[in-house]
Amino acid sequence: MIRRVRKAKIIATLGPTSSDHALIRRLFAAGVDIFRLNFSHGKHSDHAARYNAIRELERESNRPVAVLADLQGPKLRVGRFEGGRVTLSKGRKFRLDLSDSPGGSSRVQLPHKEIYSVLAPGTLLLLDDGRIRLRVKACDAESADTVVETGGPLTDNKGVNLPHVTLPIAALTDKDRLDLEFAISLGVDWVALSFVQRPEDLAEARRHIGRQAALMAKLEKPAAITKLSEIIDYADGVMVARGDLGVELAPEDVPGLQKEFIGVARAKGKPVVVATQMLESMVNSPAPTRAEASDVATAVYDGADAVMLSAETASGSYPVEAVTMMDRIITRVEQDPRYRQILDADQAVPEPTGSDAITAAARRVAHTIGAAAIVTFSVSGSTTLRAARERPEVPILGLTSNIPIARRLTMVWGVHSVLAPDATDFSKMVETACQMAHHDGFAKAGDSIVITAGIPFGTPGATNTLRIVQVTAPAARK
Ligand code: PGA
Ligand code: MN
Repeated sequence: MIRRVRKAKIIATLGPTSSDHALIRRLFAAGVDIFRLNFSHGKHSDHAARYNAIRELERESNRPVAVLADLQGPKLRVGRFEGGRVTLSKGRKFRLDLSDSPGGSSRVQLPHKEIYSVLAPGTLLLLDDGRIRLRVKACDAESADTVVETGGPLTDNKGVNLPHVTLPIAALTDKDRLDLEFAISLGVDWVALSFVQRPEDLAEARRHIGRQAALMAKLEKPAAITKLSEIIDYADGVMVARGDLGVELAPEDVPGLQKEFIGVARAKGKPVVVATQMLESMVNSPAPTRAEASDVATAVYDGADAVMLSAETASGSYPVEAVTMMDRIITRVEQDPRYRQILDADQAVPEPTGSDAITAAARRVAHTIGAAAIVTFSVSGSTTLRAARERPEVPILGLTSNIPIARRLTMVWGVHSVLAPDATDFSKMVETACQMAHHDGFAKAGDSIVITAGIPFGTPGATNTLRIVQVTAPAARK
């Protein structure tokens, strides 16, 4: 029985060094709650093999496990170079154009026709995560002449960022459409969209996905900041994608924005993920830097639902150690009395609905009577999301009979997601809640639990019932 005591969740990206079943199993045992398939890399067959391994693990462990498909989005990239590599030197001219012939030290392909229309003399282009800077001197509809401001080595297909430019491109590229269709056919639970700039960017993906998966908006363009509230309203969750965000903005801008993004998402009751470079040095080292440990801890103190590992688990040499380290850091933060004080200082105000009133009451009741857990019954997951928004002291057992919802809820702060039979009547509900809380190790005989549900059963979005129950030993029940 896997019973995690953490509130904050761990997402691990699977890649070349984490594709075999045995390692995926070890990552899960070390603490992974959600596995990420990164469609910026790898073939569909690679992702399918990983997906199948995760589902096998789910069967073995008898726990819902979520799969997050992360679509590359309109990530701009240069083309290839003759020999795969060049070195650009400061002060030299460098041309970007549409020709697919291999590049050299004076030109390379930038194969995104739409981009040339937003370039102007003075525009700054950042290549390879900002390591190389090019300044546009002159441009037309099909090419741009630039001067190298910061030089260095450049290899095939490196990324290009245009900070502070709202790109005239949709958030779904042709590649994303194919990847999305494939991911949905696999049965992934969450789909993340990259470089979301406005809520409309999510609409096309939503149309394709329907209700088959939850939709996560990756916040990594400065343009998204002005539309933050609308984007979070439209999405089912958000990711603070600090890799690209940190290239588009100055490093000192990112920590404050991380707090703002988490704050807005928490207030709206949508899960928020903090991602990228969390334990980056563990790609090559069995221990993190002190600064990295502090960074993971900060995201947890900020109240994030989940923290994410990228290259650490996808291509690093110490994937299991990275997950173990993340688990240890989160656990330690959550034991710190200051953690509770910080969470309480940002306590969300209930919205004027019956559901929020019941949910807020459940938290207070659980606290007052020293209940072992809050148990939520939810068809759509919304009762459970609202319970997590309260950030209660006690664990939330999120019960649902809907396996996709059970998997999705593994992303959410404090939720132990459980696939359980539908409650058909009140006494059945109480019995199931007790059984699950007892079976999964959250309550022993004599403990109290607080149950919230919507009655009549099976109607989404109508939490109207709060019940306190004392758990009895299974032998004492029929
Ligand atoms: P990526 O997204 O790794 O897909 O680029 C995360 C980020 O930009 O931080
Ligand atoms: Mn990114």
